[in-house]
Amino acid sequence: MYEYGLFIGGDFIKREKRIEVRNPYNDELVGYVTQAEEEDVDRAIDVAENAFKTCNLPAHRRFSILSKTADLMEEDLEEVARLITLESGKAIKYSRGEVKRGIETIRFAAAEALKLHGETIPMDASQSGENYVGFYMRVPIGVVGAITPWNFPLNLVLHKVAPAIAAGNSVVLKPATATPLTAARLAEMMKKAGLPDGMFNVIYGSGSTIGKRLIKNERLAMLTFTGSLEVGSYLKEETKAKRLTLELGSNSALIVDRSADIEKIIPRCVVGSFANAGQVCISIQRIYVHEDIFDEFLSGFKQAVSGIKVGNPMDEDTEYGPLIDDASCTRVEEWINEAVREGAKIEVGGKFTGKRLLTPTIITNTKPEMKVVCRELFAPGVCVIPFSDFDEAIDMANNSIYGLNAGVYTNDLQNAWKAALKLEAGGVIINDYPTFRVDQMPYGGVKSSGVGREGLAFAIEEMTEIKFIAFNLG
Ligand code: NAP
Repeated sequence: MYEYGLFIGGDFIKREKRIEVRNPYNDELVGYVTQAEEEDVDRAIDVAENAFKTCNLPAHRRFSILSKTADLMEEDLEEVARLITLESGKAIKYSRGEVKRGIETIRFAAAEALKLHGETIPMDASQSGENYVGFYMRVPIGVVGAITPWNFPLNLVLHKVAPAIAAGNSVVLKPATATPLTAARLAEMMKKAGLPDGMFNVIYGSGSTIGKRLIKNERLAMLTFTGSLEVGSYLKEETKAKRLTLELGSNSALIVDRSADIEKIIPRCVVGSFANAGQVCISIQRIYVHEDIFDEFLSGFKQAVSGIKVGNPMDEDTEYGPLIDDASCTRVEEWINEAVREGAKIEVGGKFTGKRLLTPTIITNTKPEMKVVCRELFAPGVCVIPFSDFDEAIDMANNSIYGLNAGVYTNDLQNAWKAALKLEAGGVIINDYPTFRVDQMPYGGVKSSGVGREGLAFAIEEMTEIKFIAFNLG
């Protein structure tokens, strides 16, 4: 049984009022975290502000603390993966993958800590600049408030904490209430790695109370949020933070052109659509397939899906486990039923077979306005839709309020370039699925999928200020 207190000022503070953390696969108790009071939020910000003003860690120390954290995580890989699976229901093989990515994320951040620099400005290019020397530096901004979702309880926390620390900022994190234990474990490691007290603080509690208190604090130099469009839109209106990054949801599209190699791409489509039960912000939700190869693709895809093992996420051969909670199951069931009533066809799946376990679901005969198409499904369901003309496929893919990643399989160079330019997305992945992400690449959305970019170097740009300095030599 795990139990963690609030992590404020380098101490774990345990109190009687606790939040239970349960395994979404079987509802078994996994552990507890201390429930924060609203005053704890203010205290964590005080402590973080003080640490920011007093620590002034040089780059080589930020590098060594982050590197040491990555080493500790590597030693503890199996245990951290187990914790992710227990609290989020992610299949263990994918939890291991998340920890490996997390280790890379920390190491990329450590490397960036060594590269923070500015450049000189040719001052005498202006008549008024003669006899001046001018340059800029990138400086940290202060206290970064971070709010994270449950579906990647380690790596998405690290995409905020690691660049913030690499840049010299301090952090107050509120992880998702469903998955606070992995974040607490990270705090333990960062302390062990030598991070000064107060530079990283973790508070637990519901978004509507503790999260709300955090976002409204005027002393936050920045709020960095990953989560749903609904909550992100609220934060955009309400936060008092000076800067804001929003990494929100999507209904990612994949275009499969006539020239695609069906046999080769189907295994990727299976992983992209169903990994983590589709509860991934760039999970494939809409596959637009050229009509000439539609039947062949659909039959191969259905066959591939039939072999997927859905069940206990702790089993080595499980591909995916449960949806996160009962409310998600109800919503997804309603959306699928509604689509069927309006004429959609369930090619395979569409059934709950165990507690929160939805079989891999492929839907055809959809209409653009059905929720399974135009909203974020966030479940193991994917719509397969024919097209006759590549431009039409681009228009259909763009017919969405979202725009995170889009994918295109084509061997036609003209179409590939056209897609790269015309697809309305933060990232276009040619000849792979939209679910592709490595952690150093710039990552973020257009339209309602968010503002700002993550990916260590890019997050650090958001988390630093340009400070210009001039010397009058006259
Ligand atoms: P969510 O419901 O929006 O919650 C995200 C975080 O916001 C949680 O910590 C939540 O706290 C907190 N929160 C809720 N209401 C709040 C409020 N009024 N004020 C401040 N904080 C509040 O999202 P989720 O269900 O955890 O995650 C799934 C969503 O995240 C999907 O839409 C997915 O696409 C998106 N996502 C995006 C990315 C990306 O990089 N673009 C990556 C992963 C996931 P509680 O846990 O206490 O509710």
